[in-house]
Amino acid sequence: MAAATNKQQLLTQSLPLLQKKFPGTAGPEKRTVLDEVVFAVLREAATTAQAEAAFTHLMRSFYDWNEMRVSTIQEIADALPGLPGAGEKARRIVGLLQEVFEERYSFDLNDIAKKGLKQGAKQLARYKAGVNDFVVAWVTQRSFAGHAIPLDAPTIRVLQRLGILEGDIDDLEATRASIEHFIPKAKGVEFTELYIELALAICTETHPDCQHCPLKADCPTGQEILAKAKADAKAAKPKSR
Ligand code: SF4
Repeated sequence: MAAATNKQQLLTQSLPLLQKKFPGTAGPEKRTVLDEVVFAVLREAATTAQAEAAFTHLMRSFYDWNEMRVSTIQEIADALPGLPGAGEKARRIVGLLQEVFEERYSFDLNDIAKKGLKQGAKQLARYKAGVNDFVVAWVTQRSFAGHAIPLDAPTIRVLQRLGILEGDIDDLEATRASIEHFIPKAKGVEFTELYIELALAICTETHPDCQHCPLKADCPTGQEILAKAKADAKAAKPKSR
């Protein structure tokens, strides 16, 4: 079990290594609060490049938020080609727009950014159909300039394999708080961007490519996988007579 200082060290050292592997990873763009909430829904378990392409396609496919709100889930999903989890994300977007409209008769959430971090996060979390912990943390990081690290399933998978997160994740908010403790605010966006790239390009769910992972030297799972592959290759080698 890695001690807290080791975990912090591992995370700190991982960022320049990942930056080298994934140079030019997108930084934050300025969006309205509602745009950012919808973007966060698209971005969960997807790279920023995938989410940006999906967001642009979505916005071009409908005249305005209201047209989107009254569309079918299938129509929204069709406007998100190639995006992981498009159907479920479409359902959340329609539900979110409906909730916002019923409460405000408009689609302007910008006032929430002025409420302070805690209050803003609390208000966002009320839109339960579309907003989850990932979305709250994402919007806190991007629109409210707060210290929050959005954790989606692929990012959690990498952190578990690295031994930074241990055991089952019963309380996502508490898990997030522990990671936020290790990552300084100034590195929050960088961490968020680089770890999803690693999770989706190399540390994939079923076939992690540990051989080409820049973190393999410090990853207990990677070391295990590589040792097993080496042993398997040795066992498969025909014995010389
Ligand atoms: S070494 Fe393997 S298991 Fe560890 S983070 Fe890299 S790809 Fe994932």
